[in-house]
Amino acid sequence: MPPKVKSSTTSSPSATSETPVQFVKGVGPRLGAVFTSRGIVTVKDLLTFFPRSYEDRTRLLKVSELSDGEKSTVAVRVTNSKKIPLKMGRSILDVSTADESGTLGLKWFHAPRGMESRFTPGTQIIVTGTVKMFMSRPQMVHPEIAWGLSSQVVEEKGQPNVGRVVPVYTELEGIPSRSFRKILWEALEKFSETLTEDLPIRYREAHQLPKLGEAVKAIHFPDTEEGVDAGTSKAANAQAIQDLVDFNTPAHARLIYEEFFKFEYLILRQRLHMEQEHAPAFGTSGGKKAMQDLTGLLPFKLTGDQQKAIDEIATDLSQTHPMNRLIQGDVGSGKTAVAFLTAGLVLAEGGQAALMAPTEILAEQHYRNAVKLFGGRLAVHMLVGKTPQSERIQLQAKLASGMPLLLIGTHALIEDPVVFKNLVFVMIDEQHRFGVEQRRTLRRKGMRADAQTGKLLQPHSLILTATPIPRTLALTAYGDLGVSTIREMPPGRIPIISKVIQGNARIRAYETIRGELIKGHQAYFIYPLVNDSEAEGFTSLKSAVAEAETLQQEVFPEFKVGLLHGQMKSDEKSAVMDRFKRNELQVLVSTTVVEVGVDVPNATIMVIEHSERFGLSQLHQLRGRVGRGSAQSYCFFFASAKVAEMTSLRLDVLEETNDGFKIAEADLRIRGPGEFLGTRQAGGLPFKLADIVRDRDWLLKAREDAQELLKTDPNLEQSENLPLRRYYEREGKLQFERLKTS
Ligand code: ADP
Ligand code: MG
Repeated sequence: MPPKVKSSTTSSPSATSETPVQFVKGVGPRLGAVFTSRGIVTVKDLLTFFPRSYEDRTRLLKVSELSDGEKSTVAVRVTNSKKIPLKMGRSILDVSTADESGTLGLKWFHAPRGMESRFTPGTQIIVTGTVKMFMSRPQMVHPEIAWGLSSQVVEEKGQPNVGRVVPVYTELEGIPSRSFRKILWEALEKFSETLTEDLPIRYREAHQLPKLGEAVKAIHFPDTEEGVDAGTSKAANAQAIQDLVDFNTPAHARLIYEEFFKFEYLILRQRLHMEQEHAPAFGTSGGKKAMQDLTGLLPFKLTGDQQKAIDEIATDLSQTHPMNRLIQGDVGSGKTAVAFLTAGLVLAEGGQAALMAPTEILAEQHYRNAVKLFGGRLAVHMLVGKTPQSERIQLQAKLASGMPLLLIGTHALIEDPVVFKNLVFVMIDEQHRFGVEQRRTLRRKGMRADAQTGKLLQPHSLILTATPIPRTLALTAYGDLGVSTIREMPPGRIPIISKVIQGNARIRAYETIRGELIKGHQAYFIYPLVNDSEAEGFTSLKSAVAEAETLQQEVFPEFKVGLLHGQMKSDEKSAVMDRFKRNELQVLVSTTVVEVGVDVPNATIMVIEHSERFGLSQLHQLRGRVGRGSAQSYCFFFASAKVAEMTSLRLDVLEETNDGFKIAEADLRIRGPGEFLGTRQAGGLPFKLADIVRDRDWLLKAREDAQELLKTDPNLEQSENLPLRRYYEREGKLQFERLKTS
């Protein structure tokens, strides 16, 4: 039975959901500080600290019904207790209890001081713990105790910790689960009705979702008793508990939907905003023709998907509001050409463009390609960390003059002294390697006031990613982007043969590799670590430095093995990369610095050591370094035999498919959105309960509704939408600049 709300408390002026948490009964200043340190500052924070799971304590068992290994709850009476001293001032607390059906032993190896004094014979307690049969007598070690409760009291009054399905929270250090449940129970009783409804009523009603107060109560202390009372089968009860554990109840739905709705409305609104911002339009004075000419210089014909992406970008560039577009295409699908050609359009009409890549190796590769392909037609420059000062000064003058050029570089582009006069098109390659702030900084370099109208002009922006973004993520983390997808691969690619390799199979793999090397091809060996000192306790991890030695001396003495890793100076790195490109090195041992972009078509072998340490998408990226030429390529995922069992299941996906989209979906399912997006994008998804994979259906509904709301009441002025508007204002999440309603 959920706690009842006393109407008198809700009218008390002191009881609001913003009340500091220390004023909840049972908290006080000391625990209040513990809560606050974990981000639970107000009552509202407490009430929205949701359970991560549930435990069935609806049924109080009899001692005679206990069975080994089951977590169970029983009501018993203390019959005896004794403290057994051990060495070094430690002791064991041993308590005997019984009900009418049998006896139960309780044991503590580190009993809190003074605890024994509470177990006076005759005391009624309710005990929850995992049963261990010891000489055919039940025992529990370190059980949870509810004091002074008999089964009768539980039935009559309702309790937070026993006689119900109880919530399970992420533990806060210093607050035992029992106390935490009690505190929440009190907080709900006094404050749940003070939570304000932000969600417009019509959406709640349309989906038949419970009110906020009800949902919050039910999510903490779900009411499953009715089912049991009504004599419903055990199976039905088990189903009800399963639904809770799966977050599949009306209360969960309500809160999940609300999280999605609030988020979707915001990002859709931001997108609308962007459409009302200003940017210079391109494509009307010769740019398209120039782009066609450049296309003719390519040594290949564009794929249909490349052409489509180019058309979509050109359409965006022709608008007077800034483009904000993502090109997603699998490794090797030819995104770079799309970036270069559209930059050509902009340059032809007098604009400056910048392409930022995450590593120097990649920036240099892009630069060389651009010069090779379009050198005579486009002014292409490069700026990376090691660019000498004299060159920087010359380059700076060009940027400041406003002359049309394409500047390719690393994050050196976003450093302070770099000033463009007329940066109108920014491109970011391998966007997942950059943080939100870095992307923004580059965009800011292109903001300026329009000379004639004084309006703030923004640059167009295009981001490139080889980690395809599953649709659910695209709608959330990247909801304000237009997306172009390149699915079609350039013709003539032969699918890579992939194998997960464990144990002795490694020897055979080495022979396959030798065969390829003899044919004149090259191989990458990727390791998760640079050197052994990084491993800290994982001494069995192979490191790049040590393995480069071994491979050279023992495995491939007849070939040249090179080493590349992120701790090398950038000159050294490019020297090694150049030697590999020229086939002076046949084997390149490396860390994941070659993960992105590197293009050496003669390399046909990719070996990844400790594959189990990488995410699927990252492995797929690494694999994409081969299969770039016209020869058959191979990828070997080496996994230690020990971990093979648990990881082979996910690595299997890589054996089965080369389709980056399928792999990304699997990766997202396995690792969840936080891991998938990586720490650099953390904070992108602010959901407490909602999970974009599990709750995909609610996400789509919420998005549709948010879209409708944005159409019908863009500035949230209608009375039923005012609470939502106040929510955004309170949270400071939205500078509520008015959207034009035309
Ligand atoms: P990614 O999308 O992974 O960045 P790249 O742009 O590096 O891929 O392209 C991979 C390789 O494919 C490059 O060598 C590039 O020249 C080549 N390429 C790109 N487009 C085509 C095409 N339409 N036909 C043939 N080869 C192409
Ligand atoms: Mg690329």
